[in-house]
Amino acid sequence: MNLLLLRPDDFIKPSQVQIRGRRLRHINKTLKAKTGDFLKAGLLNGKIGRAEILCLNQEVADLRVDLTEQPPPPLALNLILALPRPKMLRRILQAATSLGIKQIHLIGSWRVEKSYWQSPFLEADKIHQQLILGLEQAMDTQLPEVHLHPYFKPFVEDKLDAIAGDTTRLVAHPVAAASLPTTQLASLTLAIGPEGGFIPYEIEKLTELGFSAVSLGPRILTVEVAVSSLVSRLAYNLESDSRKTHNCAP
Ligand code: SAM
Repeated sequence: MNLLLLRPDDFIKPSQVQIRGRRLRHINKTLKAKTGDFLKAGLLNGKIGRAEILCLNQEVADLRVDLTEQPPPPLALNLILALPRPKMLRRILQAATSLGIKQIHLIGSWRVEKSYWQSPFLEADKIHQQLILGLEQAMDTQLPEVHLHPYFKPFVEDKLDAIAGDTTRLVAHPVAAASLPTTQLASLTLAIGPEGGFIPYEIEKLTELGFSAVSLGPRILTVEVAVSSLVSRLAYNLESDSRKTHNCAP
């Protein structure tokens, strides 16, 4: 937890919050903070800044907050992800959130186990928990949106075109002949397949919709590693990438 992420109901005065539970344990046990220390803090979907610990014990922490800065810019990338196995989903949602993705579409595909859709990890509050962990990790406050689309064909035929809009459309496919683009991109919609990969029919449907199949090379990566590698590599080409927008003049 690199950022103390605050909710509106933490506020006991306009500039004062009271924290209990998991975040308090982190302040006490991991940070070993004490009264008078300053922590990085941010309001969910709001600004970031710092929080001064006014009082701290095992039950409660009171902090004075001063939130004046904007959170990091979002990544202009829509992630279309074939629903991974539930245990991996948690880590992937955290990773995608910490990478700055704000739109995540979990989709069905031929090789997605139907039973995955019954997983308790897909309940709204469970998904929310993972997104919060990703935001705390990356010192961000803007909560991503996660959408569920259990059926591939109606998703691709009825919804995907509007979701992708005028973004560059890519589908990650290990056997594709093309590599990742190296030119600058304004925005991107990236589809990543399930553990067994997309079947040829699915690649064909995506291609019909303007998606180009691209490969990272002959190594087959797990979905988790593929998401992180593809997004990190492509983020560098995105105009919204914070490393570029915050460059200092020479
Ligand atoms: N046997 C499957 C196949 O050949 O498609 C492997 C699927 S891989 C475990 C899961 C997903 O990660 C793939 O569908 C793809 O979207 C992405 N992926 C993994 N390795 C990749 C690579 N080298 N290049 C592009 N995408 C990759």
